[in-house]
Amino acid sequence: MNIPISFEFFPPKTPEGADKLRLTRQALYAHRPEFCSVTFGAGGSTQEGTFSTVKSILEEGVAAASHFSCVGATKSTVRDQLGLLRAMGVKRLVALRGDLPSGYGMGGEFHYASDLVAFIRAETGDAFHIEVAAYPEVHPQAKSAEADLQAFAAKVRAGADSAITQYFFNADAYFRFVDDIRRLGVEVPVVPGIMPITSSTQLMRFSDACGAEIPRWIRLRLQGFGDDTASIKSFGLDVMTALCDRLRAGGAPAIHFYTMNQAGATTEIIRRLMPD
Ligand code: FAD
Repeated sequence: MNIPISFEFFPPKTPEGADKLRLTRQALYAHRPEFCSVTFGAGGSTQEGTFSTVKSILEEGVAAASHFSCVGATKSTVRDQLGLLRAMGVKRLVALRGDLPSGYGMGGEFHYASDLVAFIRAETGDAFHIEVAAYPEVHPQAKSAEADLQAFAAKVRAGADSAITQYFFNADAYFRFVDDIRRLGVEVPVVPGIMPITSSTQLMRFSDACGAEIPRWIRLRLQGFGDDTASIKSFGLDVMTALCDRLRAGGAPAIHFYTMNQAGATTEIIRRLMPD
């Protein structure tokens, strides 16, 4: 059984990074993604790199989504950036609040992603398909799990068409989240975000920052492998393929891969999930 897939990249910082990402994209296009998305540094810090990477993807004949974060932004800058994206032919956005580095006040004219979604709809009507973020294991700053569900529902009421989740390792958290939002009358597709495991230090660092829980048994197994990267990768492929399989069998509408600008692990998971 096949399932639609999409890939996420971050904007490269160097010419070598850009070359490597071009090769990664070419390798991954073989799996015919629905779209490829490019992250956007909070405060617009990567705007140029984000938009130029999105442009390259469009020129390569693939649908591209620009992430778009609003923390610290004014309505006037957001309006200008939306204009640029429309002129480039972008039809899909991932609308986010974003996180400013600690020490920066929130400032700006948008408080939550729901404000951004409402603004995009008011300014551009149906010009964009709008994705928003979802947190099956609850956003780290949420007042409570219930408040986070309500905040998610507010983003959809503001005009979001679909959602991509933060990565997670516990399929039950995803299924529960989907059940809970359906009970609130929210019907949009919620696509699980999958982070292939390629390095345990990187995974621990990201997970601490974004509140994704690494189950104790996975953490211990990874620690046990030490510097043995081949074993980490092989274990990571088994765990993530099994997770994707379970999500697909349970009705996930698609799978979004956080590729970290690398093709290897993502390609292998797809190959195992969908052998020709
Ligand atoms: P929101 O939906 O606004 O939620 C933020 C917090 O506020 C939550 O705790 C929520 O419960 C709470 N909240 C929302 N509305 C209300 C309300 N009305 N009253 C009280 N509380 C409320 N970050 C980047 O900087 N760039 C990226 O490109 C990027 N891409 C991402 C892609 C995906 C798929 C995901 C899952 C995350 C991504 N992030 C990115 C990270 C994201 O910016 C952070 O997780 C950020 O902390 C929250 O963004 P949000 O859009 O989910 O915020």
